[in-house]
Amino acid sequence: MEKVRTRFAPSPTGFMHLGGLRTALYAYLYAKHNGGDFILRIEDTDRERFVEGALEVIYSSLINSGLKYDEGPDVGGDYGPYTQSERKEMYMQYAKKLIDLGGAYYCFCTKERLESLTDENGNRKYDKHCLKISKEEAEERIKNGEPFVIRQNIPEKGVSSYEDLIFGTIEVDYADLEDNILIKSDGMPTYNFANVIDDHLMKISHVIRGTEYLSSTPKYNLMYDAFGWERPVYIHLPTIMKDATRKLSKRYGDANFDDFINKGYLEEAIINYVALLGWCPKNNAEKMTIPEMIELFDLSGISKSPSIFDDVKLRWLNGEYLKAMDNEEFVKRAEPFFKNSSVYGKYDIGKVAKLIKNRIEILSDIPEKVAFLTEFNDFDNALYENNKQKSSVEVAKTLLPTIIETLNGIDNFTNDVIFATLSEKANELGVKSKTLFYVMRIALTGLEVTPGGATEIADILGKEDTISRLTKSLNKLN
Ligand code: GLU
Repeated sequence: MEKVRTRFAPSPTGFMHLGGLRTALYAYLYAKHNGGDFILRIEDTDRERFVEGALEVIYSSLINSGLKYDEGPDVGGDYGPYTQSERKEMYMQYAKKLIDLGGAYYCFCTKERLESLTDENGNRKYDKHCLKISKEEAEERIKNGEPFVIRQNIPEKGVSSYEDLIFGTIEVDYADLEDNILIKSDGMPTYNFANVIDDHLMKISHVIRGTEYLSSTPKYNLMYDAFGWERPVYIHLPTIMKDATRKLSKRYGDANFDDFINKGYLEEAIINYVALLGWCPKNNAEKMTIPEMIELFDLSGISKSPSIFDDVKLRWLNGEYLKAMDNEEFVKRAEPFFKNSSVYGKYDIGKVAKLIKNRIEILSDIPEKVAFLTEFNDFDNALYENNKQKSSVEVAKTLLPTIIETLNGIDNFTNDVIFATLSEKANELGVKSKTLFYVMRIALTGLEVTPGGATEIADILGKEDTISRLTKSLNKLN
């Protein structure tokens, strides 16, 4: 069998849409599952829409998500250039060839004439007006500097059909298609032309892209056939929806990969979640590394129906990745979020990290989650009342002085030592250690629930702060 070659062909819009990332992922997985190559091609023929820095966004989003391309503008390869604007001359040659083959024609219609074709419903379909112009006349007019475009010549009658590996047989009436522009007046190709030429020249075996191209694919097939080229295999992917009616959109902050990174999601969690948007592996796995996905990837698990983006699930999955991460790595990745929090520069971030790592879902939860460490507010003594912990205001009154005294005697003020010393003390006093630690935690934080226990928190606050808070709480009791 011919080598599997898939491609991701984004336009440089300045951001990575999660739907695009999923297309890239599936193209990557399909290629790698089959021992093939994954190619990155930049579709930048719409120069008006060019955005500064957009290429770097594409490269870094793919690389940071673990999708290493074998060929591409910045890594080279045997079928370059991989940026369409650098292939301009070549498209023109192929367009001329297609004209000779009867698959395309020059068009000189003015904007005014095209506008006059608009019907009462605002629809417009080109009427093949320029098809009758002879090649000689057209070449003469071009030589005289008349602006022109090249249009595809779609048959007026008939039905075209092809097999899509996800959607099955797709039939489209030629009458529903238009003689689209293949080469624009600036000499640049449109997507409708460039995708065919490039997929052929880059030896793409499987075209994997969004369903929006499902019904225009017959136009591309006409060109493959006219040139006598083999059609690629088509795999169109269902849309990703925000809910029943709306697609994911950058405008609502729910489509841009970088927005998710800035909100504190991990690249590996996003790519993992995106994999599940439309694909279910045979073993129903949810948390998967990229090598595992490569192993499991299989087109029969791809659904035809649109998938709904579920933030709750993405948050959960992200939390699972955080839990599995070692503390050092967590501290490194969470650094920007700790910087935004009240504990930064005040307490040992490594220790705070241990306390909260398993208790947050996304990194931007950090500032709020750690705020209790620096905010020690007045609280209601009734918090000491807790039957389950065998705690009460009276118990707190008797235990707190001993706790303070014992802590005062500890030199090596660390979680382990504090825990062992106070446990022993509780034993000596004949009280349950859970009661002692409950009282201490309330007195130390003024909060009914906190991440972590009393001794972990004391370790972070340090001896001085700990004793000062406990003393303050004791004074409040008397
Ligand atoms: N540039 C097109 C897009 O961004 C690519 C479609 C395709 O993969 O053929 O939608």
